[in-house]
Amino acid sequence: MTGKILIVDDVSTNRIVLKVKLASAYYQTIQAESGEAALRVAREERPDLILLDMNLPDIDGAEVCERLRRDPATRGIPVVIVSAARDVAMRLRALGAGAVDVVWKPFSDALLLARLRNVLRAREAEKELERRNLTYREFGLEEAPQGFRPQSVVAIVAPSPQEALNWKRELAAELGDRIVIADPEQALTWQAGNGAPDVVVVGADLDEPGEGLRLMSELRSRPATRFSAICVVHRPGEADTAAVALDLGASDVIEAGADPREVALRVSALIRRKHLADVLRASVEDGLRLAVTDPLTGLHNRRYAMPHLAQMAARAHAEGRQIAVMLLDLDRFKQVNDTFGHAAGDAVLVEVAARLRQNLRPADLLARFGGEEFLVALPDTTLADASRAAERLRHVVEARPVRLVSGTNVRVTLSVGLAIGAAAGGKADEVTALLDRADRALLAAKAEGRNQVTVSRSAA
Ligand code: GH3
Ligand code: MG
Ligand code: MG
Repeated sequence: MTGKILIVDDVSTNRIVLKVKLASAYYQTIQAESGEAALRVAREERPDLILLDMNLPDIDGAEVCERLRRDPATRGIPVVIVSAARDVAMRLRALGAGAVDVVWKPFSDALLLARLRNVLRAREAEKELERRNLTYREFGLEEAPQGFRPQSVVAIVAPSPQEALNWKRELAAELGDRIVIADPEQALTWQAGNGAPDVVVVGADLDEPGEGLRLMSELRSRPATRFSAICVVHRPGEADTAAVALDLGASDVIEAGADPREVALRVSALIRRKHLADVLRASVEDGLRLAVTDPLTGLHNRRYAMPHLAQMAARAHAEGRQIAVMLLDLDRFKQVNDTFGHAAGDAVLVEVAARLRQNLRPADLLARFGGEEFLVALPDTTLADASRAAERLRHVVEARPVRLVSGTNVRVTLSVGLAIGAAAGGKADEVTALLDRADRALLAAKAEGRNQVTVSRSAA
């Protein structure tokens, strides 16, 4: 993976050493030698990641981090801090200020590079979601990255019951989230939806060495935990295990025995990122849903109906079955608008849509196909069954007038054109031909007096 990394250090030899290491991994680097310069270069160059020395002559690393977070232009850029001093208070301050990691010198090159790959990958995924979500800013999500977040579920899978209890106690002291303890078998039974953990904290080694890493890979592939953050706890000093965990998809790694406040800060950051990604994903899905939904009736629209119909036809053809296609059009609907007003017309459309939906099965397709025209498709049906279904739909509209909020009753009827067939191969023009037959049948129903079902003459 390539990426542009900003190296910030006041000592030029340090910058050169890092530059060489990163160049060998094909990263492009840019440099800054003070905190102020770092802030300026970050704004101008928008690097993908910042490798930041903790001890700078002008501003310290934690504060640089804080100021990057405050500026919307640089807020999303991940920061990894490098420090020569093993100062725990400072480390906590940097993590609290939003640094992804604080690396103490001397560090393992393999682990640093694995960390960079991991951070850049996560950032890329985040950016992709942001790109797909143009309304991102409207959520105000870039506000208060340290602020409110909903209560989350954190699951612990530890090497022993005793350790699980210790981890739980330490996290519970710092976090207001629901913390549950699970064993590997339970972890594999989690179901998507309520209760699935937002974060899984898992020991790298469980009953057997490396078992936690295998469990993580498994969790990554399951619907319930595909989007969960996974934090691997490894033995102190085992940089290789940590590097492998990051490359296998861990969201973060922590040394066993780390300061509980650090664990809490890291888990907290994971929860926040996971929550943000959830919101973005939901709104992307929402956008997709809206694109195929008719806002008035809540039915699928034509854009959804056409490819869905083609799929139904292809499946029917493959299974040697027939599908029925109906076009339903309200009779003299223009008069409803003219007599009662457009809002009344809308209310009638909503009510008719609801009646149609109530009288179809879940596998049937129902869509608003045009102004006052609906499409129904029934998979795997006979002509006799489809005719009965069409007659039922016609009847449920005629049977009861639509009652407006004003109390006025509006009588409406609809005409139905029905065609049945097995669009051979389900190709687009064959589906169109089936629809054309339904449309001609509909015209015939109108011509013959409306409020009736007409079956296409060339029906199979
Ligand atoms: P026919 O029996 O031949 O179908 O007569 P009709 O009046 O229903 O047919 P026509 O195509 O002449 O008019 C359809 C009317 O449906 C005209 C249009 O204003 C109305 N319409 C279409 N979409 C909507 C809508 O979303 N809301 C309302 N209120 N009216 C709509
Ligand atoms: Mg009409
Ligand atoms: Mg019409």
